[in-house]
Parts: sequence; structure tokens; C-alpha cells
Amino acid sequence: MPMAEAPLAPGAAIGILGGGQLGRMLAVAAAQLGLRCHIYSDDPKSPAFELAGAKTHASYEDQAQLVAFANSVSVAGVEFENVPASTLATVSAHVPVYPSPKVLAISQDRLSEKEFLRENGVAVAPYRRVDSVEELAAALKEIGYPALLKTRRFGYDGKGQCRIGSEQEKAQAVKALAAGPMLLESVIDFVREISVVVVRDRNGDTRTYEPSENTHHSQILTRSLVPAHADQMVLKTARETAQEIALQLDYVGTLCVEFFECEDEGDHKLLVNEIAPRVHNSGHWTLDACVVSQFENHIRAIAGWPLGGTDRHSNAEMLNLIGDDVAQWSTWAKDPHTAVHIYGKDEIRAGRKMGHVTRLTPKTERSR
Ligand code: AMP
Repeated sequence: MPMAEAPLAPGAAIGILGGGQLGRMLAVAAAQLGLRCHIYSDDPKSPAFELAGAKTHASYEDQAQLVAFANSVSVAGVEFENVPASTLATVSAHVPVYPSPKVLAISQDRLSEKEFLRENGVAVAPYRRVDSVEELAAALKEIGYPALLKTRRFGYDGKGQCRIGSEQEKAQAVKALAAGPMLLESVIDFVREISVVVVRDRNGDTRTYEPSENTHHSQILTRSLVPAHADQMVLKTARETAQEIALQLDYVGTLCVEFFECEDEGDHKLLVNEIAPRVHNSGHWTLDACVVSQFENHIRAIAGWPLGGTDRHSNAEMLNLIGDDVAQWSTWAKDPHTAVHIYGKDEIRAGRKMGHVTRLTPKTERSR
């Protein structure tokens, strides 16, 4: 892969593979710095297209379009982790790609991600690799009930997951096995879920945002709260762990580390659920409550700029507008302390992230 050298000057172009709301918010952040985003997506209705400096609508397999895209930008990045390896290979042959294809390969497979974390001394939920019905039976004996069967690839927002509560529910999980290689995981009885957004630049300078406390419904994030209710020691450990993971990955850009906080007889411990090698929904609050957002810091990092401050000036509660929630936009817009973000998607669908709002209140060190 070609190596990036000097910082990109205003006017330079950054390529982003993927055109969803994350790409859209990255394009806005780049534009604020005088940089232009070239968005590449296979979806003609990509929400990022309307805010991009340039766009390519083509398949992720279209070699000629990928080469033209790579040659039109100074660095490239991704806004979803499941960009095909062949796409990344083509683009990275012409232009530096951040985070590196090696990092993306680790996080595209739940098994390699968990193994990477374990090898680096990071605690994760007990898991077993499952490739066959026989392996599922053996894994269930070891892990016990309840357990979660997850696809190793292409899972997000709870897609590709199946809960097995008892022997009777095994049959339905066996059907899910047809979807390919799987992982069986213990269901963790956590106190809360928290996540840390960390950003690392091309020189290794690393900063974390304050952890957010996250609530999910049907495995989809609905709310992120900062400051989180967790103990200061737990929050400090979460930030240090995220920083260490970024270091071990030799990461460049914004990364999110999601944790389960568990309690055992007064002892609190953290397990990493997963890492997302990109800007993340649980970091959207940084747009309105921080000096520099996760989006701008991602652009700064991959463009070779110094990182901006990750300090928070307010308390924040981010609420996702999922499906029909977006119809409430005018009510939210009346609240002077709420920032409204709508993603410009063409069609409202159940479970689809249509936008988010962030409610700001005066800063306190601890959650009330
Ligand atoms: P994932 O796609 O793995 O991030 O899962 C989405 C959500 O499902 C998580 O944020 C949790 O709320 C829940 N979840 C995933 N894995 C587990 C687990 N092993 N134990 C309990 N809840 C889980």
C-alpha cells in the first residue's frame, strides 16, 4: 500500500467506501475542513451522495471504477466494515487506505476479532467456534444455556443472531447454521453496556472520548448517555482498554469499542463485546457535545492532521430516530437544547435508522 506523507491541504480529496449516514456525516466534517469527500457506493439512493464533493455509483466489484475512484483521491477510508477484501485490495494498491485492510479483515470476522482481543489480554464473553451441528451440540455443553449463536460475518444490529434458551430451541438454531460459519457465545448478564470512541492519528497520537452508556432495543441502539452511570474506575479502564486496542491494531482513524459491564459480588469487570473500525452510532453525541466530533477527528486522522480535542462541554443524551420516530422531527426541533440530525433517507422502514437527536444539558462529572 502506498504510504501517506504530508498532511492533506484544504482542497484535497478523501475517498469513502460506503454511502450511508456515517458517510454523510463524514462528508460534512470533511467539508468543514475544506476537504472534499468522494463517496463510492453501490446504492443509487445513498444518503451520503447529496453531500459529497464527488460520487461514484458502482458495484464494489467494478475494478475500473474502483481504480478511477482511487486515482481521484489522496487517501481513502470506509464507513462500513464489511467492504469486500477484493475491493480494499484494489483501492489500497493505488492509494493509502485507513484503517488498513489488515485491521478490517480482523473485524470482519467475529472469530478473528475475538481471537485478536484474547491474544492481547482483553477479556471477552466465553465463546466457541461452530461450523457444524455436532460442534454446536459440543459447544452448548461447554457454554451452557442461554447462549447466542452469531454468524461470523456480516452481522450488525442483532442481524445474524439467534438466542438459544434451552435444548428445545436448538432446532431453530440448527437451521440458522445453514447461513455459514458461526460462533456460540454465552449470554452475558450485564449491568450496563458502555462504549468508547477512540481516535488515533498517523503518528500514533491517541485520544478517547468519554464512555457513553448505551441502551438497545431488539439489539438496535436506541440511546447513548454521557456521562455514563458507571464508576469512575470502570470508565477509566474502558478508556485505557480502547486506547490499547487501537495501539495493538496500529489503528489510524476513529474506532469504537463496545463493552459489557458485569458485576460479581460487588466486583465490576468489563468484557469487550465488539469493535467497530469506523465512526459509530454510540459516538454521534460528540457532534454536539464535544469540541471536535468523532467524524471530524476521523477525517483529521486519515488526512494526517493533528487530532482535535475530545473534551465534552455538555452532558448529552443521544436518541436514535428509528423508523416512524422520525415523524416527531418538528417536536424535537422546537426544543432549544436539542440538536436534530435527519439522514435524508428516501423511505421510512421499521428498524431503519432515519436520524438522531442529541439533548444537551449543563456539564456534570457524574450522571444524575
Ligand atoms: P452485536 O451485534 O454483537 O453488537 O449485538 C448487538 C446487541 O445484542 C449488543 O449490544 C447487546 O445488547 C446484545 N448482545 C450481543 N451479544 C450479547 C451477549 N453475549 N450477551 C448479552 N447480550 C448480547
